[in-house]
Amino acid sequence: MAFVIDGKKISNDIKDELKEKVAALKEEGIEITLAVIQVGNDPASSIYVGNKKKACEYIGINSLSYELPETTTQEELVALVKQLNENDEVNGILVQLPLPKHMNEELIIRTISPRKDVDGFHPQNVGALSIGQKGFVSCTPAGIIELLKRSGITIEGKECVIIGRSNIVGKPMSMLMLRENATVTICHSKTKNLKEVAKRADILIVAIGKPRFVTADYVKEGAVVIDVGIHRDENNKSFGDVDYADVYDHVSAITPVPGGVGPMTIAMLMKNCVDAAMQNQ
Ligand code: NAD
Repeated sequence: MAFVIDGKKISNDIKDELKEKVAALKEEGIEITLAVIQVGNDPASSIYVGNKKKACEYIGINSLSYELPETTTQEELVALVKQLNENDEVNGILVQLPLPKHMNEELIIRTISPRKDVDGFHPQNVGALSIGQKGFVSCTPAGIIELLKRSGITIEGKECVIIGRSNIVGKPMSMLMLRENATVTICHSKTKNLKEVAKRADILIVAIGKPRFVTADYVKEGAVVIDVGIHRDENNKSFGDVDYADVYDHVSAITPVPGGVGPMTIAMLMKNCVDAAMQNQ
């Protein structure tokens, strides 16, 4: 029977550990503040922002909320980010993506001070990760490493195949698995013989954004499968990039959707906020 990796429990454990840490820091007079900026009112973004604020509240991190209208100009957003960069009371800055079409996301990300870039998207932090230096790491891949470690799954020496090469999941994931001494293969939409390559994996990480794409014939017997995808059916029930029912009998461990990778992203964001406050001391 497959071991179901409990992302909900692991993320709650991390949040509780952070809560204790934040309380101890408060005793020393250190407050932590995250600035959250949302431009426009995309419903999915509003839910994500709301969840981030709730997590801050639970852990004891102050959140400053900037809800800007869709008509905000790029110059106005840049000015706000620069002002927050200069504000010593703000430890982390998060600009909820996607931004409206008239804004250049890359430029906005580059405007955030790398020391406050708790999403880990700034090129300086991405570069630091690729050369093994300290910096903020993108929250979803960092959360997957925690899921594996806290579930007692050995990474070192394992064949890891990652399907998907996005800047926020696939690429940083590959760097993190390499840092953990896995042998890493990255697949993408142009990969030939995807099934054969995926079948080599001891640890298969799927982040492609295609509903139930990975079936049992992509999975080696006894592999660990991590499903990053999130989709919703007509009843608003979420499911992943992996056909969970089809692969379940063939894997040694698997993340469910919901309750696998999803809850880890916010937990790691909170960890990055705490780390930001510590590094600024
Ligand atoms: P993306 O669209 O930016 O990238 C998808 C990647 O998959 C691309 O690199 C592409 O080459 C590859 N791909 C697409 N079709 C493929 C195919 N047929 N075969 C092989 N590779 C293929 O997506 P993303 O931002 O990395 O997100 C992937 C999924 O993860 C989405 O469902 C997204 O909603 C989800 N996601 C979840 C979380 C979380 O917190 N759980 C965080 C980020 C993304």
